[in-house]
Amino acid sequence: MSGSACGGAAPASCPSQDKLTANLSGIKNKIVVLSGKGGVGKSTVATNLAVGLSLAGFNVGLLDVDVHGPSVPHLLKLAGVVPGFENGVLQPVPWSDKLGVMSVGFLVENRADPVIWRGPRKTGVIEQLMREVNWGERDFLVVDCPPGTGDEPLSVLQRLQPEAKVVVVTTPQQVAIADVRRSISFCRAVGAPIVGLVENMSGYACPHCGKVEELFSADGGVDLCAEMGVPFLGRIPIDPLLVRDGDQGNPFVAQGRANPTAEALQAIVGKISADAKI
Ligand code: ADP
Repeated sequence: MSGSACGGAAPASCPSQDKLTANLSGIKNKIVVLSGKGGVGKSTVATNLAVGLSLAGFNVGLLDVDVHGPSVPHLLKLAGVVPGFENGVLQPVPWSDKLGVMSVGFLVENRADPVIWRGPRKTGVIEQLMREVNWGERDFLVVDCPPGTGDEPLSVLQRLQPEAKVVVVTTPQQVAIADVRRSISFCRAVGAPIVGLVENMSGYACPHCGKVEELFSADGGVDLCAEMGVPFLGRIPIDPLLVRDGDQGNPFVAQGRANPTAEALQAIVGKISADAKI
């Protein structure tokens, strides 16, 4: 796999960037799901957002470029699937007729193998999945981005500008809040607009009575949004069913549950689609 012809930030006249832009020109809305660090539920949110949008009738692509832990194939029961090639072009793997998926995980032979690529190779593969996959015409492309504010998320945001919007996922603890503050500043430095912030693992949803109990400090995300002028998209409680569904490859939003977690996820899907251009 080759990297970008120009390397680094995309200059205006870079042929590789022009090809990437042309390849994604049939996509109306590009949503990058970002987090300050790993383990906050970014892939869970990205996957349920993509599935939720597809179930709402939109034509959706889900691109998992989290090179450090590509978990989307597992979350959608697609692990081990080999994507097709047509006329030398990689095809998204269909989860349904409304949702096509591509993941770095499909390119790694053994699921247990770590992705041991040096930085330029990682960004090269990420760019290739944006540039050389047959994404076609879609209402949304949801991108599960590597966490943090390093080279890989920088490459995703730079290559997708000026159109991509960011959803930042965080947890309520103060350390995560400090990370997310960095993520917001990072997006602003790159010029990527932020659709809003999702506070995940916020309170505990009791599987018996459905009530949500606060565990840690509440409203960290709301306060941060107010302070930094970012919309608050909602809070998703800690829910054992979300873990079980993810482990079994059944996206939570497709299970037809009526509980606070389902309501929170649906509300986020609703806000993202209301903000979109269709
Ligand atoms: P990230 O992409 O940020 O590394 P993941 O989406 O892979 O995080 O989630 C990490 C773990 O946390 C997974 O086991 C997932 O099932 C679990 N998880 C995510 N969100 C929740 C939640 N709201 N309640 C309970 N567990 C969650």
